[in-house]
Amino acid sequence: MPFCPKCRTEYVEGTVLCSDCQIELIDELPPEDDVEMVNWQVLQELPDEVVGYVLKGVLEEAGIKVYIRPLMIPGYERIRASWFKSNWGDLLVPEENLEEAREIIDEYMSSLPDYEGE
Ligand SMILES: [Zn+2]
Repeated sequence: MPFCPKCRTEYVEGTVLCSDCQIELIDELPPEDDVEMVNWQVLQELPDEVVGYVLKGVLEEAGIKVYIRPLMIPGYERIRASWFKSNWGDLLVPEENLEEAREIIDEYMSSLPDYEGE
């Protein structure tokens, strides 16, 4: 089947041009970018950077990839990237690890007697 190399639309046999991109179709699509496709999901809102890195360490120890997304706009530390959030940032994990990560965090949280979240 011919594909458009730009928008990756599949066309029926015999088509030579992509009707959207007006470019020549190719027989096979090149492989997707080597970058691993990760569907990041927000696991936990972070009150500050310290909590973020503590939780990151806990999860990475369990073999779960972690991505911390700060909500601060770089250079404007006092301005939040989102007016509707009062947290410092979000802790994201791959979708397939979401449940497991949540359990690990819950367990970790309950082991902290003076934790005052949720
Ligand atoms: Zn196209």
